Amino acid sequence: MVTTNSAIADSVTYGANNYNPLPMVVTRADGVYMWDTEGNRYLDCLAAYSAVNQGHRHPRILKAMIEQMGRVTLTSRAFHNDQIGGFLKKVCEVTEMEMTLPMNSGAEAVETAIKAARKWGYQVKKVAEDKAEIIVCSGNFHGRTMGLVSFSTEKQYREGFGPFLPGFRTIEFGNIQDLEKAITPNTVAFLMEPIQGEAGIQIPPSGFLTRARELCTKNRVLLMFDEIQTGLGRTGKMFAYQHEQNAKPDVLILGKALSGGMYPISVMVSSKEVMGVFKPGDHGSTFGGNPLAAAIGQAALDVLVDENLAERSREMGAYLFEKIQAIRSDHVLEVRARGLMVGIEIKKISGSARPFCEKLMKLGVLAKETHGQTIRIAPPLVINREQLDFLVSCLNQVLQT
Ligand SMILES: *Cc1c(COP(=O)(O)O)cnc(C)c1O
Repeated sequence: MVTTNSAIADSVTYGANNYNPLPMVVTRADGVYMWDTEGNRYLDCLAAYSAVNQGHRHPRILKAMIEQMGRVTLTSRAFHNDQIGGFLKKVCEVTEMEMTLPMNSGAEAVETAIKAARKWGYQVKKVAEDKAEIIVCSGNFHGRTMGLVSFSTEKQYREGFGPFLPGFRTIEFGNIQDLEKAITPNTVAFLMEPIQGEAGIQIPPSGFLTRARELCTKNRVLLMFDEIQTGLGRTGKMFAYQHEQNAKPDVLILGKALSGGMYPISVMVSSKEVMGVFKPGDHGSTFGGNPLAAAIGQAALDVLVDENLAERSREMGAYLFEKIQAIRSDHVLEVRARGLMVGIEIKKISGSARPFCEKLMKLGVLAKETHGQTIRIAPPLVINREQLDFLVSCLNQVLQT
C-alpha cells in the first residue's frame, strides 16, 4: 500500500529533484477539495496553477473524456478526426479570433507563437533575414523550454543552461516608455502576460494594455498575450486583457484550464494573416489536436461559458478580497487581486511565504508560495462563499500569529 512516507520516499529517490512540494500526498480530488493518503481533506487554493478552474473532475468534462476514450484517442494529424474541427471552432468563438493552432503544454504554445511572429515578420512585414526582434517583460514566465528561458530574467531559470536563443529585448514590466523606446523597425512582436502570475500576481498600471495595443498597431508589431494562467475566467473576465478597453491582442496563447485539468491542451489563437504563414510541414506536434484532447477541450470551454465561471470569479474574488483586506496582520505588505487570482505579499522582515503556506496546509488549505514572498490564492472558480469563509478564517489564524 502507498503510504505518505513511502510515496514521498519513492519520489525523492527515483525522481529528479526539480520541485519542492509541500509534505502531503494527494490521492483523490473533487471540486474544490483534495484528500491526502491519511484521509485529510484540503481546500485547493492553487488549482494546479489555474489548470482546474472548472474544479477537479468536473462531471461534464469527465463524461466527454470517458466517452471519447471509448472511441478513438490519437490519430496524429496525418488524418482528420471528427473532434478537432469542433474544438478549433469553439476556441475561435470564445476568443473572437479567426484561427487556432493546437499544441499540448503551455510552453509549446508560446514557442509556436514565437515561430509564427518571426515568420510573419519575414514574410509579411519584410524584416531582413534573421533580424526579427521580440520584446518581452522583466519578471516574465512563459515556460521552461530553451527558447523561453533564453529571455527569462530569473537567474535560476537560466543558470547553467546556456547558450541561449538570441532575438529578444527586455523592457520593465508595465513601463510604457520602455516599450516605446524598445520598438525598432525589426520588432515583430511584443509578448507579455497581462498579469504576471509566477512573478507574484503583478498587475500592470491601469491603461498599459490599451497603450501597448496602440503602440503595436502604430508600429506594425504583433501584440501577443500569454493568458495561459490569467485566461479562461481566472481574473473575473474570460480573458485578463478584457479588463482594459481596446486591448485585444493579435495573438492569444491559452493552456492550463483549456482542459479543466484532465489533459495537457494548449493553443495559439490569431488572425488568418498571422496563421497564414504556416504551411504543411512548417510546424507540428504528434499529440496536438488529438481527438481526446479536442473532446475534452470542447467540454472544458462549454463548462466555463455555461456556468458563467468568469462572472463567478469576479463575484467571489471581490468577496474574498474584501475579507482578506480586513485581516489585521503585521506580516502583510500588500494584497493584489483580480477576480480569484490573489497574491498576499509577506513583508521581508516576516521571512518568506513558505512557512505561512505550511501552516495553511496544517489547517486544511493548500496554497503555494510564489517568488518567495507571495502567497498565491487561486482556487477553482466553482468555489462558494462558505468555502471562502473557511479560507479566510485559516488566513486569519496564520497571518495573525
Ligand atoms: C504555466 C504557464 C506557462 C507554461 O505552461 P506549461 O504547460 O507548464 O508549459 C506559460 N505561461 C504562463 C503565464 C504560465 O502560467
